[in-house]
Amino acid sequence: MQHVQNFINGQWQTSDSTEYWDIPNPATGENIARVPFSTPAEIDAAAQAALAAYPAWRRTPPNDRAQYLYRYKTLLQDNAQEIGRIITTECGKTYAESVGELQRGIENVEVACGIPSLIQGYLSEDIASGIDEFMIRQPVGVVAAITPFNFPAMIPLWFLPYAIACGNTFILKPSERVPLTAVKLIDLLHATGLPQGVVQLVHGSKDTVNSILDHPTIRAISFVGSSAVAKHVYSRATANGKRAQCQGGAKNPVVVLPDADVEMTTKIVADSAFGCAGQRCLASSVAIAVGAAREMFGEAIIGAASNRQVGSGLDEGIQMGPVISAASKTRIEKLIALGQSQGAEILLDGRNQPIHGYEGGFFLRPTILQNVAPDSDLARTEIFGPVLNLVHAETVDDALQFVNRSAYGNMACIFTSSGAAARKFRYEVNAGNVGINVGVAAPMAFFPFSGWNESFFGDLHAQGQHAVEFYTQTKVVVERWPREWSRKF
Ligand code: NAD
Repeated sequence: MQHVQNFINGQWQTSDSTEYWDIPNPATGENIARVPFSTPAEIDAAAQAALAAYPAWRRTPPNDRAQYLYRYKTLLQDNAQEIGRIITTECGKTYAESVGELQRGIENVEVACGIPSLIQGYLSEDIASGIDEFMIRQPVGVVAAITPFNFPAMIPLWFLPYAIACGNTFILKPSERVPLTAVKLIDLLHATGLPQGVVQLVHGSKDTVNSILDHPTIRAISFVGSSAVAKHVYSRATANGKRAQCQGGAKNPVVVLPDADVEMTTKIVADSAFGCAGQRCLASSVAIAVGAAREMFGEAIIGAASNRQVGSGLDEGIQMGPVISAASKTRIEKLIALGQSQGAEILLDGRNQPIHGYEGGFFLRPTILQNVAPDSDLARTEIFGPVLNLVHAETVDDALQFVNRSAYGNMACIFTSSGAAARKFRYEVNAGNVGINVGVAAPMAFFPFSGWNESFFGDLHAQGQHAVEFYTQTKVVVERWPREWSRKF
């Protein structure tokens, strides 16, 4: 079984920790690796290495820093198949989903390669006679990112390329449930010849995260994970004087109007709700059918869900893999049972249906519920599994009211052929990522990933120009050069 190592100051290092976590392959339940919970001394070593590397890295011209990222993009692409297999083996999603998420990550590397222009400031000449004023962007220093299990490649790449392109040095603490993808990502980065200390990888869980949040050298924290942890990370980081951007959980609604294209809508909503086994922060988990959409959409989505091919993500033709862990599977099954006990009707039950040949895996099949009481635990809780709740609304206004009652605001989607209804929805909906006839409204790398409310704590989001602003501090210079001084020459 592989013992996962940290990467500090350009070296792979075995942790001194006596605490470990075993990593199962979610499709088989067999352990494939063991990850250490790094000690505070190891976090300190990572922070000191990053601090030592910072002055020279900061002075490396942005265009030269970008050259490492160009090489990195090529290496990621050349190794996409291997990375895809690693993601599927430790995270469970299908191979196509794994390679797809890597591609979305690579797009962030591409955007960060534009750092020479992205990092530019601006200048105003003659703010008073002979006086100019300009703003420049400088890096923040040592920064860290703490990432979740569900996108082991893409989410670290929402942060790492921008952080180092801006001249910061960086520490990654990936989810303890998917450390192997991070190891491969950092190994490839090392192969670009990046100077030692610019990037470190440390493994661990809650205590490791708290050591990072309390470390005085680390100036900024990027976080993605559940809302409760996002809130904790945001409070502790900011109380320690750090800047923080913390993306949290979600409960994403899709609204289906009677004029929607049923075939297209059903396919897209099924992919959104059951793709990645529902473990996407942009998974649809509540479908609100308006008026006459109820019958036609309800029947169609049950058909699409029951036809979904569930199995090991490395097998041909599989459309949905297992959930991440045995504990997650049990938690989701309990939530379905709780919903049932609180009055929900189960239209399609994905529990207790083992996959032949993978009896040890953490599989659930698509599940569809209706009549979930609006104020029940199930209606408010992020299930993070392949479970879709069907709701009926009389009008678009009723649907919007339902959507806007949610504590979250990661994504909301509408399916319609009416431009006016779509515009009303995007104008009034209380969510930061909006899909119109799109079921996973994931912003491209050159747009911010704009969660709102309990789905985000902070002000600057991941990706694109927001990332550059987060990873730089502005310096404003006011300069006086009296005209008469030029007469000396
Ligand atoms: P999680 O909150 O359990 O873990 C995220 C990270 O926090 C991990 O690195 C983990 O080690 C660390 N952590 C866990 N508990 C902690 C604690 N008590 N104190 C300090 N650190 C702690 O999340 P997860 O289960 O890995 O990921 C799934 C969650 O992430 C879902 O809620 C999903 O919606 C959310 N997510 C959000 C986005 C987004 O962009 N908003 C994207 C992906 C996932």
